[in-house]
Amino acid sequence: MAGASPKACILTPPGRGAVATIRVVAGDSVIDAAQPAVFCANNGRAVCDQQIERIVFGRWGRSVSEDVVLCRLEPGLLEIHCHGGDSAVQRIMADLQRLGCQPESWRDQRVRRAGFLEAELQEALQQAPTLQTAAALAQQADGRLQREVDQLIVGLESTADSSKFTQQVSLRLDALIHHSRFGRHLIQPWRVVFAGRPNVGKSSLINVLLGYARSIVFDQPGTTRDAVGSDTAFEGWPVRLIDTAGLRPTGDDLERAGMLRTQQELATADCRVLVLDASQPALPEDVELLNTWPSSVIVAHKSDQPPAWGRDLPSGALRVSSLEKTGVCDLERVIVERLVPETPEREAVFPVTDRQAACLEQARQSAEDGAWDAARNALLQLRYGARAESHSSGASTLDS
Ligand code: GDP
Repeated sequence: MAGASPKACILTPPGRGAVATIRVVAGDSVIDAAQPAVFCANNGRAVCDQQIERIVFGRWGRSVSEDVVLCRLEPGLLEIHCHGGDSAVQRIMADLQRLGCQPESWRDQRVRRAGFLEAELQEALQQAPTLQTAAALAQQADGRLQREVDQLIVGLESTADSSKFTQQVSLRLDALIHHSRFGRHLIQPWRVVFAGRPNVGKSSLINVLLGYARSIVFDQPGTTRDAVGSDTAFEGWPVRLIDTAGLRPTGDDLERAGMLRTQQELATADCRVLVLDASQPALPEDVELLNTWPSSVIVAHKSDQPPAWGRDLPSGALRVSSLEKTGVCDLERVIVERLVPETPEREAVFPVTDRQAACLEQARQSAEDGAWDAARNALLQLRYGARAESHSSGASTLDS
């Protein structure tokens, strides 16, 4: 840490909280040098003399002082824990600034300490919507992607076209990209779109899957005019259930616009659930829907009523009743099987953001074209983001 300029950064979010944390880089000696002293440890020692990874109680400030807990994490790196809320934090930050510590955002500090890519992975981890996705993201944030990308960059820098290494690059990029869809859905929910004629019970079914009434249930056809999305988790995987405008012949412009939106939602869905009212005979709209989206999950809904489709009911249709809540767990299981057909092995490495996936796709395309410089540049973009240019001159700059 020698030579580094002192910096201070607030780690905890703004607003009220029991405890707030300020991280200080290269600031031990400036705090010790302050006269009159801003920090007095209860054990009487200077900050620089405190043991590493031991918490120290003390007081911050002289005339009006604040109880704080201080911990040196490593030489030149310490954390100050004070009362939560803005005033205590702002007061300590103001003192640190007066002593010469430059304020820094936690994002900038993370990038500086962990590197751009690793910081991005840690940020992704913070956005994990479920425990299961957090566990998967935590594995990716352990430096494995960075190590793999560094090896590829160094290899591409130092070997010629014909070398064995460049032949391996495409394979290694393929392996990274293999789970990219899974990786990106650890933060962004999978989109599950429910479609069918009006009144087949789409809203009722979604309400049962959510466990609460999100969509209005109405016994007159045509209630839902636009797509309505609700987030939940199935078996620990984040999903957005999208209720759509019912599909039927109509002269109403607004309803037609809603139906167009339904088709767009279906076209971009991760999983399509076609809902049929199995208690009513099939209509041409049902048949058209089934023919247009053949590989969808099919729900024979209102199975509490006498069946009306007979042999017209597609094989594999799941019999579900929202009224009696039967068949709902099976439907959930089938949706999960469609969305997550395989989970990556523990040691797998994959991207978790659109940006990371796009850089890897670009690198693979360039590698396939034999454009090794372009492939390396795409990997530098992945590794350093906007600062990639300053790292493009050679492998030796990787860790600078
Ligand atoms: P949507 O227009 O497709 O969203 O259909 P709704 O969810 O609004 O439901 C239309 C009608 O079907 C309402 O009267 C519901 O009470 C009824 N309904 C929904 N699910 C079931 C079910 O599983 N069994 C029966 N018998 N009626 C249902």
